[in-house]
Amino acid sequence: MSSKTRSWQKADSDHYLHPFTDHHDLGQKGARIITRAEGVYVYDSEGNQILDGMSGLWCVNLGYGRQDLIEAGCRQLQELPYYNSFFQTAHPPAIELSQLLAEVSPPGFKLSFFTGSGSESNDTNIKLVRRYWDLVGQPQRKKFISRKNAYHGSTVAAGTLGGMGAMHEQTGDMVNHVVHIEQPYHFGLGGDLSPAEFGLRQARLLEEKIKELGPENVAAFIGEPVQGAGGVIIPPDTYWPEIQRICRKYDILLIADEVITGFGRLGEWFGSTRLGIEPDLITFAKGVTSGYLPLGGVLVGERVGEVISAQGGEFAHGYTYSGHPAACAVALANIRALRDEGIVERVKNEIGPYFNQSWAKLDDHPIIGEARSIGMVGALELVRDKSSRERFDKDQHAGMRCRDFCFQNGLVMRAVGDGMIVAPPLVCEKAHIDELVEKAWKCLDLTEAALA
Ligand SMILES: *Cc1c(COP(=O)(O)O)cnc(C)c1O
Repeated sequence: MSSKTRSWQKADSDHYLHPFTDHHDLGQKGARIITRAEGVYVYDSEGNQILDGMSGLWCVNLGYGRQDLIEAGCRQLQELPYYNSFFQTAHPPAIELSQLLAEVSPPGFKLSFFTGSGSESNDTNIKLVRRYWDLVGQPQRKKFISRKNAYHGSTVAAGTLGGMGAMHEQTGDMVNHVVHIEQPYHFGLGGDLSPAEFGLRQARLLEEKIKELGPENVAAFIGEPVQGAGGVIIPPDTYWPEIQRICRKYDILLIADEVITGFGRLGEWFGSTRLGIEPDLITFAKGVTSGYLPLGGVLVGERVGEVISAQGGEFAHGYTYSGHPAACAVALANIRALRDEGIVERVKNEIGPYFNQSWAKLDDHPIIGEARSIGMVGALELVRDKSSRERFDKDQHAGMRCRDFCFQNGLVMRAVGDGMIVAPPLVCEKAHIDELVEKAWKCLDLTEAALA
């Protein structure tokens, strides 16, 4: 290892408290330091080339080194690096972005609110929903229903909306009025039910919960169309239409957290379109700028939008960097590229199906219980026994072992417990998908041998 890498690792562990990292553990191992990237590859400080199977953190959808995005950001920094949109001011990038978003969003979405991240966007949702019910004279509607193993971000409020166990231990119940129902995870929870039966059963948990809380007290249901960080949980086809029916029946607002599924990942501009969801609010972040600069927001559908804009009165909410000009300029370039280069259609008709077919071959591997994918996201379930779906022992850390083999062999694949997940850049060529699947197979072999 080079002395440069060693000194970076030392400074890193001395001074840098990383997100979602065991600091003690990191200090012993030393961080892998990524120094540059191009296309679908990242390069570490030792010069290793690594295929980025996770698009950074589900965000670098157009890949690295896009000059149009870089130039859009630079140009805006020269013209007007910062101004805000508080108190009746605005600037062209935020205005143009909100207009372009209205063009690519599902019907009925004309308004956007900007933030700096997905977490802030879900905090915004909580306040928008609260404001809506106050304005329509039902202020007692305060309950948010979410799902176990959901990920909605990491601020106190978004973290409480989320349902991942380890995060809840540390966030606790600092925000009131949030309750969770079980998730539509067929491989883990489906038992002998067919996917269709299981999807209906899990959706009806929402109805049970609404009745338990009293429909007049429920404000909104929030869900990711496909759960991402929880392990790429793809719900059965029956799930979302039933959730939609239940929300309508009880007049409850539906929030689709599209931070991962937005901007083409499932082969439509928004995952809701693909899965038959008609939400009232859509959370976005990540893919809106391909991660080149931080930006998030909420697309506000007409039901909420009309009430908020027609009734008057200030919406007392905003961030210094809401609609940051340079971030908006990059988002404009990113969305235009997705549209003008036909990237969303290509995911739907060409590279998505190719990825799905290629990924499905991993189902034949001896330690794979299920290989599933939709659009450009996929998951593998690691098992000791294929037929009984018996898992490896917890202390074998099968997922982390596999992830480490991947890194050593030039592939980023993320572990979620004993699930392996990928979300490759939307601009992957077929050869990149072949490389991804070949490397994944090889690392599964290595994992199998190490755990035997
Ligand atoms: C990443 C993510 C978030 C949080 O976004 P940040 O920008 O990290 O705050 C929220 N929801 C989903 C579905 C996500 O994947």
